[in-house]
Amino acid sequence: PSTFSYQFDTPSHKGITEFSTGLFINGEFVDGSENSTIDVINPATGKLITKISQGTPKDVDRAVAAAQHAFETSWGLKCPGAERAKLMNKLADLMEEHEDELAAVEALDNGKTFYWAKNADLKGAIDCIRYYAGWADKIQGKTIETNDGKLVYTRHEPLGVVGQIIPWNFPLLMLSWKIGPALATGNAIVLKPSEFTPLSALLTAKLAKEAGFPPGVFNVVNGYGATVGAAIAEHMDIEKVAFTGSTLVGRKIMEAAAKTNLKKVTLELGGKSPNIIFDDADLEAAVNWAAFGIFWNQGQTCCAGSRIFVHAKIYDEFLHLFTEKAKQVKVGDPFHPDSKQGPQVSNAQFDRIMSYIDSGKDEGATVHHGGVRVGDEGYFISPTIFTDTRPDMKIVKEEIFGPVGVVIKFDDDEDVIRQANDTVYGLACSVFSQNINRALETAHKLKAGTAWVNCANMLHASVPFGGFKQSGIGRELGEYALENYTAVKAVHVNFGHQWS
Ligand code: NAD
Repeated sequence: PSTFSYQFDTPSHKGITEFSTGLFINGEFVDGSENSTIDVINPATGKLITKISQGTPKDVDRAVAAAQHAFETSWGLKCPGAERAKLMNKLADLMEEHEDELAAVEALDNGKTFYWAKNADLKGAIDCIRYYAGWADKIQGKTIETNDGKLVYTRHEPLGVVGQIIPWNFPLLMLSWKIGPALATGNAIVLKPSEFTPLSALLTAKLAKEAGFPPGVFNVVNGYGATVGAAIAEHMDIEKVAFTGSTLVGRKIMEAAAKTNLKKVTLELGGKSPNIIFDDADLEAAVNWAAFGIFWNQGQTCCAGSRIFVHAKIYDEFLHLFTEKAKQVKVGDPFHPDSKQGPQVSNAQFDRIMSYIDSGKDEGATVHHGGVRVGDEGYFISPTIFTDTRPDMKIVKEEIFGPVGVVIKFDDDEDVIRQANDTVYGLACSVFSQNINRALETAHKLKAGTAWVNCANMLHASVPFGGFKQSGIGRELGEYALENYTAVKAVHVNFGHQWS
């Protein structure tokens, strides 16, 4: 396979990074079975960065066979947890050593600013792998009392080969959320990065090889969802599939699992998260968090606070300050130190967001700020604020996945909770109030997997993340995610010489 060579020049580091653009199977970079490629585009310019090998269902078979062999011979129950932890910590150390390189590749490929790539994505990914390395030698079952002549205990055994399909919005962070718990519990992995942002996964594969993981423990098969993704979801020898992406594809994954080997499924899907800003909120802080909630990562955040409900008493002042804040979000080159917002990830996403903006206008909402393309190359969109919306409008109901927020006035606490819960999604919510009773009461009444009080978009490796309703199934991160990757075996030992 070919090599991609990239000269990076970041505030703290300059150099050349080089890695293979092949598939990573059984510890080696290889070409795809059909020798075809996928173009990787720079979203800041619309121009080609490089080409990567395109995987096929046959390549998924190769990767699964390698993973199965590794699981049975050098990983899984054959490799003590302390040893797995050592390898995971080594990988985290290597990622830290190469953090500027990885962050630069992420910014180049995804369009997010280098600043955030380094300070959020890289930091979060490294923390996550270290956090799960800490669990690797602490996977424990229980002993259970039944009767005097019996010993019963449980074992939390790894599942075997697991498939992981990840999106383009946080390529490396999503990779770490997936591989962290899977490796800690001793599973072997076949991972498919998004066809839009495959590069950081390939550079990580190179580092995993250097860290010394046995061949086959971690495999990366690049490719499209309909071919490689579907082959993973349908594979008879994959015991579990973890997916992050759209609700539409999440349904397909579950269906494929149901129709084949009933593999375990965890899904992290979309959202339309509410922010509720009460009249007793610290207004300046609420404005800052609300802006971070919707504009961070170009609005391409599954838990983005895209519906902003503001109490009538502070609505005008909030809207004024929030608009000032949106004006300060400098949109531009992800590598420029002043840039706060880069391009959307792809032309398709750009078009999708612009069509949502058009639908908002057509349905009678007011574009209070933004709503336009920035520049004439790349996929940049200005931070956008809609007002005068109705609950039935598409921009209020559907996930836009861009820097587009709707600001909605309310004057009744119970009614705003009803409106906030009036969605098929339930990923996250934010509540702003200086009155702790009001804030917590509201947080508990909102139907969402994460509730932020006086903050937004806060994530931590030790805190579970996942959705209520159609935002997903299962929880990632924290101790909770270990359950996704282990099967409980109950062992009954009869030492009392009883036959029943
Ligand atoms: P997507 O669902 O199109 O793609 C996600 C991944 O699934 C990609 O790797 C893609 O190649 C693959 N895929 C596509 N079709 C497939 C199929 N038929 N079978 C198997 N795999 C297939 O979504 P996207 O465009 O990459 O990401 C945007 C969406 O993901 C948004 O809706 C967002 O809310 C959601 N998302 C959710 C979370 C979360 O944690 N809940 C995180 C990030 C993104």
